[in-house]
Amino acid sequence: MSSDIDSLEAERKRLYQEISKTGDFRRGSIIVNYRRCGKPNCACAQPGHPGHGPQYRLTTKVAGQTHVKNLRPGRELEIVENEVANHQRFRELIRSVVEVSEQICDIRETLSCDSSHVESEADAETTAQKGASKTASKRKSSRNSTIS
Ligand SMILES: [Zn+2]
Repeated sequence: MSSDIDSLEAERKRLYQEISKTGDFRRGSIIVNYRRCGKPNCACAQPGHPGHGPQYRLTTKVAGQTHVKNLRPGRELEIVENEVANHQRFRELIRSVVEVSEQICDIRETLSCDSSHVESEADAETTAQKGASKTASKRKSSRNSTIS
């Protein structure tokens, strides 16, 4: 049992080290856009013309607001592409840390849950009720940190 915890803790430590090496990252996604200017004589009005572009845009949704930033093809686009990819990586690592940490919690619970089993079950019930009302009142403020 404890060797399980040891290897899981080692894995968690390794993930933290990887997270610290993520580098610069930012939220959002890059969208490629082709656009028709609307002038009837322009080439983009011809059937089969893809439209003007490509135009690259970083769109980020924070707290229900969408932010759009135009990106110049070339170096600026490359940098932002890398930052966005790093954010995906960061999120995957965070998810892995949470999963590993939950496994550690489960094992520790099993290890410590022997003598005071009945008492801890009653505690769990009141904690769950408190937790539920806390979540409901906290929902509005937590939306600010929503990531998309
Ligand atoms: Zn046009």
